[in-house]
Amino acid sequence: MSGTLFVVATPIGNLEDLTPRARQTLAQADLIAAEDTRHTGRLLSHFGIKTPQFALHDHNEEHVVEVLLADLVAGRSIALVSDAGTPLISDPGYRLVRAAHEHRITVSPVPGVSAATAALSAAGLATNRYCFEGFLPAKKNARRARIDELRHEQRTIVLYESVHRVADCLADLVSAFGAERAAFVGRELTKLHEQCVHSTLGSLAAMIENGSIPTKGEFVIVVAGSDARLTSSLDVDRLLVELAGVLPGNEAAKLVARATGEKRNALYKRLLELRGDAADES
Ligand code: SAM
Repeated sequence: MSGTLFVVATPIGNLEDLTPRARQTLAQADLIAAEDTRHTGRLLSHFGIKTPQFALHDHNEEHVVEVLLADLVAGRSIALVSDAGTPLISDPGYRLVRAAHEHRITVSPVPGVSAATAALSAAGLATNRYCFEGFLPAKKNARRARIDELRHEQRTIVLYESVHRVADCLADLVSAFGAERAAFVGRELTKLHEQCVHSTLGSLAAMIENGSIPTKGEFVIVVAGSDARLTSSLDVDRLLVELAGVLPGNEAAKLVARATGEKRNALYKRLLELRGDAADES
């Protein structure tokens, strides 16, 4: 009979967040497949767990899947862990889990912490619908293009970001979504210097800039979805035309851009189109 592949969540900082079932599973498995055996070794020794480890990371996963599958088929059970949080959530393990399913091996989650759900639970933003975008591309243009794709996303957006890019990422989010969009930064969650800040994108970017949110440690950014009522084209057009009735066109476009996160140039162009339409009709 085949063994079971357990997918085990581990803490993202506070070791007490390892669940009793995760601890038991790690202790009883025949093998632990770990992203970094030295890192996981520290967790195991903290809990006095002696189960042997096998390295499975992004660079070798393709090759070691066969070896681990053979173990599972032979009846040995494997606990898959990543460095922190839930495996496969912006972490390795997907190929192994898929291969296990394809070989009709039982896959069983041992759930626990993930930085994404920890952040969402503390963000104070709508959680009835959310999307997980993980890490945005590291390169500036690709990141901006991805953020642009999210401009009309109505669900709450969860992002992971590295300490080196968090300031640039927030600045790009302000440019695309507007400074007034509600958002949250979770820094060093569950750790000694944990910071949970709910505010607007503009003020979060300023807090990063002035150091009140230090660029140290690990970050999750959660951004409120766009407000469907404001961004439906009918409302934006109406808002533009109404404001352009009392303000210069470029000022109207600037205000609507700030309120909706739309690009000012695009709104100004749209206003000219709308005015052209109006002139044609009259
Ligand atoms: N699998 C993990 C999970 O379930 O959360 C995520 C792994 S991903 C490689 C690492 C990223 O998760 C970090 O760059 C950061 O964005 C986020 N993260 C992990 N631990 C965190 C913490 N304690 N506080 C804030 N963000 C954290």
